[in-house]
This record gives sequence, structure tokens and C-alpha cells, in this order.
Amino acid sequence: MQAVFDGHNDVLLRLWQHARGGTDPIAEFIEGTDKGHIDVPRARAGGLAGGLCAIYIPSGDLVLRTPDRNGHYVTPLSEPLDRLPSLVTAIELADIAMRLDRAGAWRLCRSTGEIRRAMADGIFAAVLHMEGCEAIGPDLAALETFHAAGLRSLGPVWSRHNVFGHGVPFAYPSSPDTGPGLTEAGFELVRACNRLGILIDLAHITERGFWDVAETTDQPLVASHSNAHVLTPVARNLTDRQLDAIRESRGLVGLNYATTMLRADGQENAATPLSDMVRHVDYMVERVGIDCVALGSDFDGATIPEEIADAAGNQKLVAALRSAGYGDGELTRICRENWLRVLGEAWHEAA
Ligand SMILES: [Zn+2]
Repeated sequence: MQAVFDGHNDVLLRLWQHARGGTDPIAEFIEGTDKGHIDVPRARAGGLAGGLCAIYIPSGDLVLRTPDRNGHYVTPLSEPLDRLPSLVTAIELADIAMRLDRAGAWRLCRSTGEIRRAMADGIFAAVLHMEGCEAIGPDLAALETFHAAGLRSLGPVWSRHNVFGHGVPFAYPSSPDTGPGLTEAGFELVRACNRLGILIDLAHITERGFWDVAETTDQPLVASHSNAHVLTPVARNLTDRQLDAIRESRGLVGLNYATTMLRADGQENAATPLSDMVRHVDYMVERVGIDCVALGSDFDGATIPEEIADAAGNQKLVAALRSAGYGDGELTRICRENWLRVLGEAWHEAA
């Protein structure tokens, strides 16, 4: 079994939503459930040893548009969120992350050494990520507090606009060049992340925003859960030029398991074969090299292929990649070592 450190999941959102319905989120994670994708029993079964766990503020108005008869769709961007309710939700999600740590259900990690120790101990290695920084505030007034709480990765925007920049809509077919990039506050956020050692994630940002970050940051360029636009031309996927920039910076792209981002037709359809996942990995490895491709499942955040089904099915992808010709050394890099390398660099760890 290849231990996987995965670049993106929304398990905290699922646990938070269930907690609001009266479920104990800690027990749900430890004991397991048939809902969603990640908990301790299923992570163990699938060799999911850890990953970046998102603090994400849901948009109540997000309903994916039904495709027209040509299979095309454009879901309008969700409305911008107000700061204070976003801050409350973000704190509650971070609180669940800390309670899981205190209960020994997972370990909240702040260094690659801690990630490696947790994985060696057989405890899920969680790294706190923020997907859209509505909770931070334009003056970055909450950034240090979240950093102190363990935040080590953030995407300035989700697929909506905020004070830091602009996100891409869920649209097929669509270029990722859908609007402006970073705001002045967004540039400040990038510089602050460089200083503090917080990874900047380029998933969900417009192409203009991608280049704005690329020109400003001193980190490798990372898109935690995105695929190849040439194979699936949705706005969320990366053009060849973006992939080339990732390669030049020795950054990383994490394979997103969302069927809308894997299938040639861009549809949400669980009957998506593993071959579509392999096709994206093959293309991205060809384009950026074996050291810059990793996994970014979007577990608990997307409709994924039914053959994978949930975290327990993660090794089916590994097996499919092995059948496609990837050896142990290559699989090790894709499954965890590439992530550990870029995190160590963004976190200012000595090489
Ligand atoms: Zn996402």
C-alpha cells in the first residue's frame, strides 16, 4: 500500500455541517460513517495517511447549472460573503480541527517532520488550509491568529470574489481567464504568507490572479486540486502555460478527483472511469515532470468516480497508475513526497 498525503479535502465542512444537525463530529470521524468520504476507518483502509484540510465557508447560493443540450454550462459566481459570519464559521471549523487533535483522532501538523511522525505512528496527519480568506479581513487582522492555530496553507479566493481577489466560475467550456486577479490587499496577503511561511494555493483563482501570485511570491507555485485544461476545458483547470510555470518554479499540481474536472465532457457523473484520472496524471507528468504532480482528491467536496467511492478506495487509483506503468519510486513521489517537498519549502524548512 502506498501511503497518501493528499492535497485537499473538505472533511471539516462535512463534520461542521453534521455537528449543526446534532451529530458529535469527533465521534463521527473516529467511529466512521457511510456519509461523505473521510473518517478514520476509511482513511486507514485506503492508505490515506494525511492531507490538507480546508476551512471553507460554504456559499448558500451555489447550485451547479444544468448543462444545455450541447453539454455547456456556466454557474454564476456565488455572492461575496460578509466578513463576520465568515469569521465565526472559520473559527468553528478550526475548533473541530483542534478537538480532533486533542482527542487523538488526527494530529494537527505544522512541519513536515510532524507530518512524517504522524504517518509513522499511523495517525492521520492533518494540515490546516483556508480555501478563500473571507475570515481574514482586508487588513490581515486575523492572519497571525489563524497561523498560531496551525494554518499553514491558504487560497486567497474560492470560486467567488472577495477583498483579496477573484475566483473562476464553474463553467464548461471556459478559459480560466475570466476576470481580474489579486487586489492590493491580495498582494499584501501573498507577501505576508511568504514572511510567515504559509503556502499559497492557486486552485480556484482566475488566470490573471495566478500570474499575479507568480510575480509576487517566493514560493513554488502550487495548485492543490486542479487538472489539465487541455483534457477537460473547465475554468478550474490549468492551461499548458500555467502548468509550464508550475514546472519552472518546481511547484506542484494535485490531481482533483471531481468528475467535472476529469471527464472530457466536464459533466458531474459518478460513472467516470479511473482511466480518466490516469489520463490527467499522464498528461501532467508529461508536461511538468514526475516531481511536480501529486494528489488533491477534493474528498468531501465533490462528486468523485464511483470506483473510488471514498477514502477507502484511494488505492484503486494507485493500482490504476501502477498498471499504467508507474513504478514504486514514481508512485511515492506522486502519493506524498512531492507534497512534503513543496510544503517544506513554503514553510522555510532547511533542505
Ligand atoms: Zn476547491
